[in-house]
Amino acid sequence: MKNEGENIQSWQGKQIKVNILYSRAGVAQHIWVSNDNGSILIDTGDGVLRDLLSNKCDLNKISGIVFTHGHFDHVGGLHSLLGFLRMIGRNQTLRIFAPKGCKEIFSILNNFIKCYPNTMPFKITRKEIQPQKVFQIAGMSVESYPVVHCGGIKGSGILDQIPALGYRISYKDESIAISGDTGNCPSLKELVKDADLAIIEATLEKSEGVDKELLEKVHLSEDLAKEIGKLAKDFILVHRERR
Ligand SMILES: [Zn+2]
Repeated sequence: MKNEGENIQSWQGKQIKVNILYSRAGVAQHIWVSNDNGSILIDTGDGVLRDLLSNKCDLNKISGIVFTHGHFDHVGGLHSLLGFLRMIGRNQTLRIFAPKGCKEIFSILNNFIKCYPNTMPFKITRKEIQPQKVFQIAGMSVESYPVVHCGGIKGSGILDQIPALGYRISYKDESIAISGDTGNCPSLKELVKDADLAIIEATLEKSEGVDKELLEKVHLSEDLAKEIGKLAKDFILVHRERR
């Protein structure tokens, strides 16, 4: 069942529940994926703590945080979330997974841990993920797919490619695919194919008139995202710009 509101969109499968807590390109994105055992938080954009609390997500149920890449709109809320978990005295280990070489995430984590060397009530484990790796969180199997994503600065064009991953999350006979931010790269179709739900970025309004390099290396357009989404049984487009 799919429920789409202005910012919050949700999907209820047989075993997996997905809550897109917030998604807007250049502002923030965070997605909550849960089953009966626990939850995975995908990315922690600005306002993630506020959005988790206002959606009554059980913060004690966060089994792991998985990052797609290190851009500010996907990591900006991490410090606040960690601070809140420390304040409420979380005692379960928090497992964090991020693409190998993702300097933004690992430096936020290192700084946080450095601030509170003797007063952390919970342990943080950090794992750098390479493409095509499988790991388990809350009984869910998470498989990483390489995607192509570059940043951009107005006036400076397209920047270098950064470490970025899409994820396929499976539990029992159900699976969901999350593209993260990506250009139209070859592994996307593989990631999405036959998933019960695909959550695909569609930052650009349309492909028409857009530089080909931008569509291949930076972001998808709505028409491309829809074409890819149709390879799954159902799809939701996210990460749109304010139109
Ligand atoms: Zn990005």
